Amino acid sequence: MRYYVKNQLLILEPLSKHPYPYQSIASLSIPSPPILNPTFTFNASLQKYLFGKQLLLDELPFPLELLYQHYLEGYVQWEPGLIKKGNFLRCRRCGNQDDTLFGEFQCFRCHHSCKYCRKCIMMGRVSACSALLLWRGNAPTMSVSQVEFNWNGTLSQGQEEASKQIVETIKLGRQLLVWAVCGAGKTEILFEGIRQALSNNRKVCLASPRTDVILELLPRLRQVFPNVNIIGLYGGSEEIFQQSQFILATTHQLFRFYQAFDVMIIDEVDAFPFSYDESLHFAVEKAKKRIGSSVYLTATPTRRWKKTPTFKILARYHGHPLPQPTFHWCGNWKKLLTKRKLPPSIQSWITELLQKEKQALLFFPSVSVMNQALPLFQKLHKKIASVHATDSQRKEKVSKLRNGEIPILLTTTILERGVTISNLNVAVIGAEQTIFTESALIQIAGRVGRDASSPTGDVIFFHNGKSREMEKALIHIVTINRQARKSGALT
Ligand SMILES: [Zn+2]
Ligand SMILES: [Zn+2]
Repeated sequence: MRYYVKNQLLILEPLSKHPYPYQSIASLSIPSPPILNPTFTFNASLQKYLFGKQLLLDELPFPLELLYQHYLEGYVQWEPGLIKKGNFLRCRRCGNQDDTLFGEFQCFRCHHSCKYCRKCIMMGRVSACSALLLWRGNAPTMSVSQVEFNWNGTLSQGQEEASKQIVETIKLGRQLLVWAVCGAGKTEILFEGIRQALSNNRKVCLASPRTDVILELLPRLRQVFPNVNIIGLYGGSEEIFQQSQFILATTHQLFRFYQAFDVMIIDEVDAFPFSYDESLHFAVEKAKKRIGSSVYLTATPTRRWKKTPTFKILARYHGHPLPQPTFHWCGNWKKLLTKRKLPPSIQSWITELLQKEKQALLFFPSVSVMNQALPLFQKLHKKIASVHATDSQRKEKVSKLRNGEIPILLTTTILERGVTISNLNVAVIGAEQTIFTESALIQIAGRVGRDASSPTGDVIFFHNGKSREMEKALIHIVTINRQARKSGALT
């Protein structure tokens, strides 16, 4: 579609009979939108659909006439998807301004060669002639009169203190990083802050870079807040256009939001891809209201969080120390696996576990290495299985491990976070490989001893030459345990 500006108003080519010299929206200077007409009867479904979002015309199932009428009455803002900043383009949806991440195509809409953003193309194309629409009217009412709260667990001392800090942060519209060791019980510390925010009619978003985390949290939070309509947004979910006071979303889903949330909570801020992808940070900032508060959660903060006010929970909720990894040299495991042999040290550890009927997760650096190793492990026990990111049986296999049907599960790094299984042991095969970063290794070690009834277990890094990251992970865990002991947080 092309546009023209007349008398400080945007004219849309398809809705006008005049042959103005229409242009692409990117080459116009867009006038500020008309003043909101309070007597206009706006369309309530459009309000519900568009409030707190920033959507392409294609994403709005409403007639163009209706959208334009809302623009004229001051309820909808029309803005270009790409803006020019000097010689550079910037995508308004994802913040991309890297020249190499803009493509060009012969556009059927503006009949020109048109630039588009490649960075956020998976959410539909933002090109130089696309408009993004925002809602400028009031927010739809969607709060419940009295938020039911269905949780009566108790918090550890560290959790209690963190919970208070979070309540304070939300109240004052501030930022807080909660550095909580694996197994500290970081979900529970959010409950009170969320409860108060929802009771005060605030909009809350809990986001994570990982779909697994969202899938695990969703049923849990629905149980805790039974009369709040909590919506889950992740790749493949279809709830994107519902309105809710409380949304759980993967960070990717936040590209479509615009100043929607009073409270933004990001779980696992150090997890891929959030840790590497600046556009996701842009998305999070954009989705939050300017005066909103942010709470970030992590077990392994990177340097970028150094300046953010931080609260540490050094001990697990049950007061036992974090299990410390031990390093076992296992020779040239790659070579042995190609010869269809298991490294002897790994084989004897597994045999011992099987004899004692103990369970384990075995982490591999890649799917191909894991596939090579699987039949060798199955010789030791035929029910040993493997799982990877695109495995359709992924959830079933994890629950089979949980209920004891699978004794040992081989996995790639996809299960490094978010999995809680009691009485578990873990090992990393080829721990010196670069995929096993300090934070990945800490997370893997953090799978062990999460239950108060079985707070210990084996964490073994099988390697063919220690890496710096392995050492860093060990130092990290030892230091945390020492600090926790000193502060009296361990039982
Ligand atoms: Zn175009
Ligand atoms: Zn973009």
